[in-house]
Amino acid sequence: MKPCPSCDKNKIDEYSYEEGSILICRNCGLQWARYTGRVEKNTSLIDSREGLSNSITNYYMSSGSITSSGCYPPYRSFFRFLETIKPGGSLRILDIGCGNGVFLQECLKLGHDVTGIEADDTMREIIPPGLQSRIIFSPVEKISAFGQPFDVITFWDSFEHLADGFKLLNRLRAYLKNDGIIYLRVNNNYDIFNIAAYFITCLFPSMGKRMLKLCFGFPHHAWNFSRTGISNLLDKNGWQVVSYGFSDTPASRFTKNVLLRCLIELAYLFNRMIRGGKIGEYYIVPGVKGAALRCS
Ligand SMILES: [Zn+2]
Repeated sequence: MKPCPSCDKNKIDEYSYEEGSILICRNCGLQWARYTGRVEKNTSLIDSREGLSNSITNYYMSSGSITSSGCYPPYRSFFRFLETIKPGGSLRILDIGCGNGVFLQECLKLGHDVTGIEADDTMREIIPPGLQSRIIFSPVEKISAFGQPFDVITFWDSFEHLADGFKLLNRLRAYLKNDGIIYLRVNNNYDIFNIAAYFITCLFPSMGKRMLKLCFGFPHHAWNFSRTGISNLLDKNGWQVVSYGFSDTPASRFTKNVLLRCLIELAYLFNRMIRGGKIGEYYIVPGVKGAALRCS
């Protein structure tokens, strides 16, 4: 078996499924997917809505799940951070995997010039018609060039879908201004659900395996990151993390059910106590390959 792509160690556990395997590095905590030949990883960022997660995914992707985007906490904290590093003025923003387009609308409201990329053509049905001229409906890998470079490139819950995400980052470097920044909002495996999955896998392997699959988002996700895991991979690819943090998606984004929302919020309380969260947020800029590893 190949070593961990992040820390190069061979301490790897493998969990096999019909679609392929989830590989977990016991050293750095990185989790990544390996697909069987029969399953071709679709480049569409949200490439399936089936089974248990069907209604949650549909609700999550609907523009109605963010009723007042100006108050949507993840956007609020993103724009607050942006204001500290790039105060005032209009910015050129590229949003990869723009989904329902709500983030694009928020950028426009704040006076930024924004372009979106969305691989899933069915999103046209829920994206407001006035916004569609700003969106390129194509897998990002198939886009050969952009006009002017961007100040900011964002991946809102889309980077973990891309098996070749780090190669893509390196390609995007050419379309980022010299003082540009990339924002990655990715899944993070240090939270109550992932920890519970780990313990259940030890006690009840079959049930734990199913829970692990759910936490990972396999096969739709290609990665389930740990902080060390993604930091090493970014460093190896010549990216420097300038700021990072952990958070959770507001429960209101998943369901209208009040009881369920309360249960989710209770779980989030545990995440805050352990300083973790289901979401990792990373602001990165071009750096020197291996700089952090050499310093550590
Ligand atoms: Zn590792």
